[in-house]
This record gives sequence, C-alpha cells and structure tokens, in this order.
Amino acid sequence: MSNSHPPRVIPVHDLRPGALPIPLSSAGIRRAPGLATSDTLGRPLRDLRISVTDRCNFRCSYCMPKEVFDKDYQYLPQSALLSFEEIVQVAREFVGLGVQKIRLTGGEPLLRKNLELLIAQLGTLRTPEGQALDMTLTTNGALLARKAQALRDAGLQRVTVSLDGLDDRIFRQMNDVDFPVSEVLKGIEAAQAAGLGPIKVNMVVKRGTNDHEILPMARHFRGTGIVLRFIEYMDVGATNGWCMDEVLPSAQVIARLQTEFSLLPMQAFAPGETAQRWAYADAQGQPDAHAGEIGVISSVTQAFCGDCNRARLSTEGQLYLCLFASQGYDLRSLLRGGASAQELAAAIGSIWEQRDDRYSMLRASLPPQPAAAPGRRVEMSYIGG
Ligand code: SAM
Ligand code: SF4
Ligand code: SF4
Repeated sequence: MSNSHPPRVIPVHDLRPGALPIPLSSAGIRRAPGLATSDTLGRPLRDLRISVTDRCNFRCSYCMPKEVFDKDYQYLPQSALLSFEEIVQVAREFVGLGVQKIRLTGGEPLLRKNLELLIAQLGTLRTPEGQALDMTLTTNGALLARKAQALRDAGLQRVTVSLDGLDDRIFRQMNDVDFPVSEVLKGIEAAQAAGLGPIKVNMVVKRGTNDHEILPMARHFRGTGIVLRFIEYMDVGATNGWCMDEVLPSAQVIARLQTEFSLLPMQAFAPGETAQRWAYADAQGQPDAHAGEIGVISSVTQAFCGDCNRARLSTEGQLYLCLFASQGYDLRSLLRGGASAQELAAAIGSIWEQRDDRYSMLRASLPPQPAAAPGRRVEMSYIGG
C-alpha cells in the first residue's frame, strides 16, 4: 500500500498522555480487492478485537487482581467510551482495509448495556468483496444464560467462553468473586441451544493452580462439539505478578492429555490462527469426528507473531498493535475531531503499515519489566484479549 502524499500529523485536541501521534496522508488509502493492508513484516490486517468495556464482574488474578482492581479503582467514565456509532464508524474503515473478523471483548463484554444493538449494527458491514464479517465474542459466561438468545437474534455467530476448571472450589478461587462454575456451564448450554456455535472454551492454565483440571476439562468437553483450548498463562499487563514458573508449556499439556487420549496434529485453518489444533483419534488412528478436537495456544513458549494479523481497539478508542504494547494511537480524537471517513482510513492504514510489533518473539531477549515502570504495558481488560 503506498501513498504518494507525504504524511502529516493531524492535530488532536484530546491527546492522552502516552498516546502516539498519528501519521496521516491526505490521500485515501486504497487497496486492491482481495488484498489487505500489510505491515512492515508483510502481515495483513485481518482481525479486529474491540474492547467494549474495561469493567468486569470477575477478578481473575491473572488479569484483574483484586488488590489493584479494588473499590477505589478508577474505571473509564461513560463519556470516554466509544459509543456504538463510533465503534461502527471505526470498524467500517478497518473492514475496508482488510479486516474480515471482529471479536468483541473487554473487560466483560456482556456488561456493556444493549450490546445486541452494536452486534446488529456491525452485522451490516461488508468487506470490499461483499462478504459479511465473521463476528464473535469472548465472555466469562456469567451472564450468558440470560443473554445467549438475544445475542444470536442480533446476528452473533459464535462465542468463546473462558472457563479455567470444573472444580467449583478452584473456579471460585480463580475468578476471586466466588462465582459458581455451574452458572458458567448453564451459560454454555444456553449458547449451544441458541445456535451460537461452534463454541470454544478457553482455559488459562496456571501451573500449581488449575493444571490438575486439564484432564477433567478434556473429558467433559470431548464429544460435545465444543472446542476446548488450553492457553499458556501470559505476562500481559503489569499487575498479575507473572512468573515463568507458573507457565505450563503447551507441550506438557499435550503430554498430559496423551496419557489418556490419542491425539493427531491438525492443519491450521487460516494464517494467523493462534491455536495449534489436535484431533482426538479413533481406534484406527484416524480423526474421530464425533470426539472433536482440542487446541493449545502457546503464546509464551512458541511465539506466533510471524503471522499476527490482529489489531486491538481499546474501550476508549485507542488502536493497539500488540497485546504487549504500552501505547496506542488515539482514534477517538480523530473521530471526535471531525475526521472524515477517508482520513480515518488513511490514519489506520498508515499506522498498520508502520507496524513492526513482535513482542513474543523478542520476549526472551528483553529485560524483565518492573511492575511500576513508566510506560508499562496496558492491561488486558483495557485493550481486550
Ligand atoms: N472477560 C472476558 C473473558 O474472560 O472471556 C473477555 C476478556 S478476557 C481479558 C479475554 C481472554 O483473555 C480470556 O480468555 C482470559 O482467560 C484471557 N486472559 C486474561 N489474562 C490472561 C493471561 N495473563 N494469560 C493468558 N490469558 C489471559
Ligand atoms: Fe474479567 Fe475476563 Fe479478565 Fe477474568 S479474564 S478478570 S473474566 S476480563
Ligand atoms: Fe501479535 Fe503481539 Fe501477540 Fe506477537 S506478541 S502474536 S505481535 S499480539
């Protein structure tokens, strides 16, 4: 993607400390049909994750530890959040630049009032080739039993539910608000009944906390049509006190599963897919379609930055190019400053074209980051998982 005009920096009135200046070309960004805008490493822009709230009804210690996210924590005021209209305005330009998939996340996205209205509006967007978007949502499942049907009716296709174990005591301890596992399981059932599928269940594995739940979780979801995925505990944000000792590498997750199940490695569906997929094998050593598959997401031990095609839009409209970034680009200021659709597209395109983020590939060579460091990484609850 090239622009013949030199970049200019649009004046913004509300540049938050830490936000990066936005290079803008006065020419609109155009792309050839079928091609997405690419970054400096040749990675196309395909996947947009939108955080619709920075609030959550859980306090998972690996994400929003209670000691930090306590009653005095200052969440964003309503006026700071992008409105649904603003989100759709931005999303439309992302789609014009190559995005085919949108994931709504947070915080807990089901806490955002009238989320169905946003889903319905995003559902009207079409790619330049005329395709509808692949639209999904990641939730902790607490409100899913109540909302599954309305989400489906609004046009949501599928959901990913986070669930870190079936042992009620461990689950209550991990969500740290004493929330029972039975309610999340009811939410998953309601999502299945509403046709929100295929459902994925994400389990963050913390060695010494819930790793004994790997086999029970696999037994529970095998043969249900639900795809269980084991996620390595990541050093995202700056508040969870992460240490490598608590990471159980995916290779060990697979080894534990293989003590009971026969697994076959599967091909990735699409470039940029985060999970390595494994099929359960039948007695003949062939993939067992009824038993289904599992996935492992090895964000720590096997970096997948090489084809990372994900952009993240924070709750207040900052564009982040990596989960581990410390600064974003303030698209909200452009929106509220009256930028045209063409200027917005040009800004997003230029930002993506300059992207060289690949934190997980570099992790091992970087110095450890003190939690109180200035310019520390943003929290996952703010930019969305
Ligand atoms: N509240 C929703 C939920 O929990 O599904 C959506 C937002 S949450 C930030 C998105 C995903 O990030 C969840 O699957 C969660 O388990 C995962 N996550 C949060 N912190 C993590 C960490 N430190 N390491 C790995 N995954 C993490
Ligand atoms: Fe909330 Fe999801 Fe973070 Fe847990 S992982 S605290 S449910 S945002
Ligand atoms: Fe993408 Fe950043 Fe994760 Fe690498 S570390 S896969 S660039 S989000």
